[in-house]
Amino acid sequence: MDKKERIGFIGLGAMGKPMAVNIVKAGFPVSCFDVNSDNLQELKDLGATAAENGGQVAETADIIFTSLPNAAIVETVMAGNDGIFSHCQKGTVIVDMSSVSPSSTLKMAKIAAESGIAYVDAPVSGGTKGAVAGTLTIMVGADKNVFVRIRPVLEVIGKDIYHVGATGSGDAIKIVNNLMLGCNMATLAEALILGVKCGLNLETMQEIIGKSSGRSYVMDAKLEKFIMEEEYAGGFAMDLQYKDLGLALEAGKENNIPLPMTALATEIFQSGRAMGLGREDMSAVIKVWENITNVRLAGDQE
Ligand code: NAD
Repeated sequence: MDKKERIGFIGLGAMGKPMAVNIVKAGFPVSCFDVNSDNLQELKDLGATAAENGGQVAETADIIFTSLPNAAIVETVMAGNDGIFSHCQKGTVIVDMSSVSPSSTLKMAKIAAESGIAYVDAPVSGGTKGAVAGTLTIMVGADKNVFVRIRPVLEVIGKDIYHVGATGSGDAIKIVNNLMLGCNMATLAEALILGVKCGLNLETMQEIIGKSSGRSYVMDAKLEKFIMEEEYAGGFAMDLQYKDLGLALEAGKENNIPLPMTALATEIFQSGRAMGLGREDMSAVIKVWENITNVRLAGDQE
């Protein structure tokens, strides 16, 4: 592994911090920045350089990773006044790991290319658990030679690393994946309520549907751990799921593709957010149906 590449990391939140920690621990020189200075401390303690702004990171890094909340912030950090584009050397590679739309990424890639900067989209799946363990799935949109250059660093933070295609394709597959995740979760929620109302209990549905054609990832990942426990802390926040469904709708509009299931699921998650559940795991969407139908999953188990 070539550890001579100097790494920059901007956005040290729930995902970015553990990723940056793993890169430091792997022996790369890392310079990082976050607007929240508390988030920098752990990296500083591990020996990373804490920069004062994104521009300073850009001046000292060969490959710059970003993990930021949304496309508007990514665009400001990249191309805003005093953004990192204006401080990068020619030949720098920027790897944006945020979940954003392909069109936003392509807009940034076009500006970057004018200064000889390579721009890569590399959104991830696997949550904070995968980020801490270094086992994320990473979906990379990049030129082949750029992918080969950044791969040694990606291997430190991910387990399943895919070169999907050209820039923008990583974001595209992430959006498609999360569209399915959101729709499947919305479906599971209403299905469980119907089942309970019809006199089934959750364990029966888990066992029999778990071995039948209605089985899904959300059933495996969310039913026992969150819904049966009635414990919705941690996991994948409803706010983030809502955001990702919005990205799919945006892409649908841009590409003239109708997405009726996605639109419906978006509004169901919005109902959950209106109930104040935005920071809970996405599976808390079940509470929307409990509210509407007056069916309580746990209560009806007694
Ligand atoms: P987060 O809000 O925890 O972290 C974002 C970080 O960016 C924060 O530390 C914030 O202070 C920092 N930041 C905001 N504006 C900044 C700026 N202008 N300059 C520098 N730093 C700035 O979010 P997260 O959960 O770590 O998610 C990051 C990205 O990864 C999002 O796009 C999200 O959709 C995606 N994602 C999250 C998960 C998850 O489970 N949390 C899973 C997959 C993908």
